[in-house]
Amino acid sequence: MPKLKTESHSEYLHRIMKPISNSICAAKWYNATIWLGSGHTASCHHTPMHEISIEALRKNPKQLHNTPEKKASRQEMLDGKRPSECDYCWRIEDLSEEHVSDRVYKTEIYTDAEVKALPKIGADNNIDLKTLEIAFDRNCNFACSYCGPSFSSKWGQDITANGYYQNLVSDGATVFQQDGKWAALYKNSANNPYIHAFWKWWPELRTSLQELRITGGEPMLSQDFWKFMESLANDFPEQLRLAVNSNLGARRELVDRLISVSHGLKEFDFYTSCEAVGEQAEYIRDGLDYELFCENIEHVLRNGNIRVFNVMMTINSLCLFSLTDFLDQVLEWKQKFGGQKLVFSTNILSLPKFMSPTFLPSDLLHGCREELLRWLEKNQMNENISVWEHNCLNRLVEYIKKQAELRRCASTTRSYEHDFKSFYTQYDERRGKSLSNTFPMLADWYNSLELIEPEQSPTPPTAPKTIP
Ligand code: SF4
Repeated sequence: MPKLKTESHSEYLHRIMKPISNSICAAKWYNATIWLGSGHTASCHHTPMHEISIEALRKNPKQLHNTPEKKASRQEMLDGKRPSECDYCWRIEDLSEEHVSDRVYKTEIYTDAEVKALPKIGADNNIDLKTLEIAFDRNCNFACSYCGPSFSSKWGQDITANGYYQNLVSDGATVFQQDGKWAALYKNSANNPYIHAFWKWWPELRTSLQELRITGGEPMLSQDFWKFMESLANDFPEQLRLAVNSNLGARRELVDRLISVSHGLKEFDFYTSCEAVGEQAEYIRDGLDYELFCENIEHVLRNGNIRVFNVMMTINSLCLFSLTDFLDQVLEWKQKFGGQKLVFSTNILSLPKFMSPTFLPSDLLHGCREELLRWLEKNQMNENISVWEHNCLNRLVEYIKKQAELRRCASTTRSYEHDFKSFYTQYDERRGKSLSNTFPMLADWYNSLELIEPEQSPTPPTAPKTIP
């Protein structure tokens, strides 16, 4: 059985994980994200993606997940070393002993026996997955600022129409300097070797999978998604929980089609994303109609056969100015539909670094942290907020504090400030938006930022290996 109901996350860490090693994470074995459109995979949404070898797939479709890169990281974990790709977790753990990282949350969902078996399974075994997030293609109706052309066809259209974003110099900014065509190599999925491998693996995979989450792009815009949903409706694996990750900005008839499919599924979870309100949310997530989004959430919760509805917040610098308003909205939904039916989580954006909340000026960051602390204090007794949700917010507060205290070297700060100004100037021009008008609290600082002299247009890089 997974983590005991009576024990804390930290007690679980000491009881089950530490005896195996100081860096073990079951996600490296049992969990994966796989992008079938581009043939890439990652262990979870914090680790960089890497390419899947078509040659290896010909021998064994399980190579969609069991890549040499993951096997090397597994060995490091078994040896008690920290794989560098899992930096997100190490940074949280290094804040202080009391903060548990996602490797605990992502391990405790499996049974004790499954976790204890990891050393015996070893690093090299081609194992079947228990939890999988899969994207059939990058079709999307949104082009969110922190996403990019590799994950959104709408973003690709921006690049095709207006060219690469120019004059960006910091880590992760290259995602805006390519058109993402590498992620949509196969116009027809019948020719896509990754989709072929998936279907070849499926008869076995369907028996091991406990949870399958379908993401995109926007999955409701993918023909392969609907094909897959139809195949499942006819032959749904007994133990499987299905989840769909949607931006909830699609046409109402598509949302209704999914609602109708949900009634034929045994266990169905819904995921969506937002982290701010009103026009600030619409600025961050280009394509979003905030009012329609809120209406769609209520429509799905009222009419769908939903086990749990998850609201994921990607914590970037701009969302901090209405994050607590959005949390209030989430509490309203919890009140209406049930605290355990609608849950939320926070993920701190790490790339591109200039969008990370940690590079705002210290006084602004301090103000946002104070606001979040006040919100937490006001809602500390709210029984609709789970321990896990409290933990997510508390570690965000701590993270902001640590980052605001950190003295960064002047040249690094300069490059992030430069990219902040350079990117949002171009984003505003292309998308008909205005950062200064939408975020007046940032206007003085933003307008004072000076650009480094533009260099020559960057050469388009090859496929970026980072997930926004
Ligand atoms: S980033 Fe954390 S949760 Fe993800 S695979 Fe690495 S250790 Fe596990």
